Amino acid sequence: MTDPPTDALADALADASAHPLTEQLAAATFESASEYAAALERFLRTDERAGVYIGYRPPSLEDSSRHMAGLQALLFDTGWSRLGWPVRAGGLGGDPRFRAAMFETLWKLDIQIPEPFTTLEILVPVLLVFAPHLADELLPSLLRGDEGWAQAFSEPDAGSDLASLRTRLEPDGDGYRLTGQKVWSTYGHLAQRSVLLARSGGPGHKGLTMVLVDLDQTGVEVRPIRAEDGENHFSEIFLDDAWVPGDRIIGQLGGGWAVAMYMLQWERGAWGWLQQGRFHSRLQHALQLAPAEPSHAASLGHAYTLVAALRLHTRETVERLAREETLGPEVSIDKLLLIDAELATWNAIRDHVGPRFELDEELHWLRAEYLFSRAAPIYGGSQEIQRTLVAQRVLHMPRES
Ligand SMILES: Cc1cc2nc3c(=O)[nH]c(=O)nc-3n(C[C@H](O)[C@H](O)[C@H](O)COP(=O)(O)OP(=O)(O)OC[C@H]3O[C@@H](n4cnc5c(N)ncnc54)[C@H](O)[C@@H]3O)c2cc1C
Repeated sequence: MTDPPTDALADALADASAHPLTEQLAAATFESASEYAAALERFLRTDERAGVYIGYRPPSLEDSSRHMAGLQALLFDTGWSRLGWPVRAGGLGGDPRFRAAMFETLWKLDIQIPEPFTTLEILVPVLLVFAPHLADELLPSLLRGDEGWAQAFSEPDAGSDLASLRTRLEPDGDGYRLTGQKVWSTYGHLAQRSVLLARSGGPGHKGLTMVLVDLDQTGVEVRPIRAEDGENHFSEIFLDDAWVPGDRIIGQLGGGWAVAMYMLQWERGAWGWLQQGRFHSRLQHALQLAPAEPSHAASLGHAYTLVAALRLHTRETVERLAREETLGPEVSIDKLLLIDAELATWNAIRDHVGPRFELDEELHWLRAEYLFSRAAPIYGGSQEIQRTLVAQRVLHMPRES
């Protein structure tokens, strides 16, 4: 990655008195994201508190969530996860390349990325632009893992056709009331709040508003949904006159579609970078689990090639996000590359590891990741929809009549 400007970071480090740092990080001056990554790697390899996260294999989702919350707190308290976020919101300055470098370093050391980081990477950039007061107030507790957030867009009859959603947002005094049903909210049952898209006006995308709603309040019921691997990956959220204070609107009333579109460049682009490190790490792990068979060379080579393509493309995306460029519809390309890389990686791993993959109790976590990979063509916008977007909005091909 190219080097980010250092002056802003040095100022940020000097300026961060509101959230004291360890001597180790305060003394460091990072000339680049790569230098930061090298220093973080040294920290993780040598600090005895970090050892329990290296090579950790989650026995269950709940266990993973509890265990990895410790890493999240450690990275925040020592300052490492605050690089790449603005000082005014409790960060230490620098741009998204620092976050990208952190994810890369964690995967390199075979450390699972705490799940809330993936949600943060999607939701917080949106708050910084559309509701900075909420980012300033809430980023530190979110980044430290003191609270978790979910994303509630989809409804039973509104997935790909999101603009048809029906959950209502009605004015009430100095706030709003929400009524409706959301579905597929990832880890909603583990979250305290959710970013939610609701209908505040007429039909279509112009009648939508984005809000931040507390999930632990009267009028909200969160029910976990069990996925194929036996874990509660998702939730349904039922809203019955749930209260939203007026200052929880993200962006403009009726401007929710623009907020959702801005969010997608992080959900499809930055997410792709975060995931390519995991695919690479898992392919390496698979090679250690079973001897190299010439008959597996083609599928492993195919997977590596797709992961490399994803890496190169999303690296450029992170650079563009760091330059605050608007990515537009071409971010669907990131998502399509992600789908191909994710499916190919797990197909290759399953073939390569052989019967052990299905039978070895210790590989439960690997099977769970395989099962999750089958959802790649759906989550974050389905494969068919992404191809259509590329055809119509990037290649400017005619629409079907
Ligand atoms: C792992 C995972 C995590 C998720 N997390 C969240 C979350 O945190 N928050 C959230 O709000 N949602 C979440 N979702 C929901 C996700 O956004 C939706 O599943 C997705 O948008 C598709 O919507 P749908 O399920 O209603 O399918 P549908 O929109 O009904 O689509 C069904 C099939 O029809 C195809 N199709 C639909 N319309 C067209 C068209 N016009 N042209 C061609 N093909 C079409 C689709 O490609 C798909 O194959 C998650 C989903 C998954 C799988």
